Amino acid sequence: MEKMQFKAESKRLLEMMINSIYSQKEIFLRELISNSSDAIDKIYYRALTDESLSFNKEDYYIKVIADKDNRTLMIRDTGIGMTKDELEEHLGVIAKSGSLAFKTENEAKDGHDIIGQFGVGFYSAFMVADVVTVRTKALGSDTAYQWKSEGADGYTIDTCEKDGVGTEIILTIKENTEDESYDEYLEEYRLKAIIKKYSDFIRYPIKMDVTGRRPKEGSEDEFEDYTEEQVINSMVPIWRKNKNELKDEDYENFYNEKRYGFDKPLKHIHISVDGAVRYNAILFIPEQIPFDYYSKEFEKGLELYSNGVLIMEKCADLLPDYFSFVKGMVDSEDLSLNISREILQQDKQLKLIAKNIKNKIKNQLQAMMKDDREKYEEFFKSFGRQLKFGVYSDFGSNKDDLKDLLIFYSSKEKKMVSLAEYVSRMPEDQKYIYYASGESYERIEKLPQTEMVADKGYEILYFTEDIDEFAIKMLMNYEDKEFKSVSSGDLGLDADDKEKDEKEDASENKELFEAMKDLLSDKVKAVRASKRLKSHPVCLTAEGELTIEMEKILRAMPD
Ligand code: ADP
Ligand code: MG
Repeated sequence: MEKMQFKAESKRLLEMMINSIYSQKEIFLRELISNSSDAIDKIYYRALTDESLSFNKEDYYIKVIADKDNRTLMIRDTGIGMTKDELEEHLGVIAKSGSLAFKTENEAKDGHDIIGQFGVGFYSAFMVADVVTVRTKALGSDTAYQWKSEGADGYTIDTCEKDGVGTEIILTIKENTEDESYDEYLEEYRLKAIIKKYSDFIRYPIKMDVTGRRPKEGSEDEFEDYTEEQVINSMVPIWRKNKNELKDEDYENFYNEKRYGFDKPLKHIHISVDGAVRYNAILFIPEQIPFDYYSKEFEKGLELYSNGVLIMEKCADLLPDYFSFVKGMVDSEDLSLNISREILQQDKQLKLIAKNIKNKIKNQLQAMMKDDREKYEEFFKSFGRQLKFGVYSDFGSNKDDLKDLLIFYSSKEKKMVSLAEYVSRMPEDQKYIYYASGESYERIEKLPQTEMVADKGYEILYFTEDIDEFAIKMLMNYEDKEFKSVSSGDLGLDADDKEKDEKEDASENKELFEAMKDLLSDKVKAVRASKRLKSHPVCLTAEGELTIEMEKILRAMPD
């Protein structure tokens, strides 16, 4: 029996791949720069074991050069280069990754993690280029080679002249079509933005010749054009730095630079985890609510990086809804990416990270509540509503996660208190956690219903937000103490002969009550004598589960 190999229509395959893997064309630059970074890392690894080789960081860089006149974009690196065999194997065989092989042979060291693994990223260049030319000289070789391809039709390899070890990838950028613009990939500002977005934390400098106009030296009204070489990327990811070396200011700069918000962050959380799943994260609690926070347009999520390369701009799975205000980024080496490196293959690691992050945020907020109450109240003013919604839409452990983050205005000290604080100072004989709902603290203060409870010396929580009472109903109780509205039928106060008295009053005034009820027939269900009033002649109470305030809200809601 003869064993046959699968054949593939490689032209078609290449075309399909190029046009279906990536959602955005701009990704090609991320892929080529990642390859350059890998190539430099390979020299770094080589130098670790080869004593004749030294690695001076200053000698290694990536340079992006746009030439509008010739419509070319060049990505040059001083990396390890490729031999003729390697050119054939790595750029001639689709889905063959020299980097993956390298990674299997060399153990990752000092955070120099090789990025490549799928052996397809290089071909993304054909999304924006008609012709791709690679000129390369391998470390330890005297001959340079040129690999050239117009995509589907295959490639040629020749010798060529090239100074120094490394690789130049030259793209002949496509002409604009009716519905697609390619010119932008020759524009300085656009290239800078793409580099910043995806490759900001590549370890080696990514340089560009940047042009500008500046006042002439020694003159006030004369200007001159200049070109200067600039490093575009920030290189060292702040999240890999030692926490002790970083100041609040560094985090604030990062927040602004990444445009997480235009405000100053209220708090930052720097996490480095080296456990079942390894990751670094820098999270921020903003000071102000984003203008679109409570609108449909708002998208929650954290930036997700794999080895310092941006994979996803807003990874929603990393944050529960009730912490959707948190901004920031996560970087992990342990993510299993799919071939486009845009979406994740499976989310086991992601789920672990998300859970971990959730707990960290919770703990940090709890600590803030304890140690910096003023700041916490500021936070709660902005985002407390979101936490209450979290309690209300209880999924799984929401309630437990959130109940200790809630604070409410209290009658006793006229300030915000947590449920734990309330319960801890309840008198022995108090059975319930009392609350009163209303439009404002002032109006609640004047409610006749609050008098009896307050007279007993019991503390009352003031609910002024729609969501308050709904959330508390979901919570049901706190440390086994049930919540009770001051306007509920039974207040649970020890009034010994209360019921008897009320009955007597009722029979004495039977006719009066009936007349009143007739008058208000469409407004009240019953008119009764009550012992809970002191300085007010009358008050409204609710029967059953819903309080009057809740009924109002439900009635106001659109059907
Ligand atoms: P991946 O990076 O996932 O391995 P690519 O298609 O991006 O896949 O690249 C294929 C291979 O070509 C790389 O693994 C590497 O061996 C080689 N290569 C690509 N670009 C360069 C470069 N600038 N310098 C040296 N080798 C390169
Ligand atoms: Mg690659």
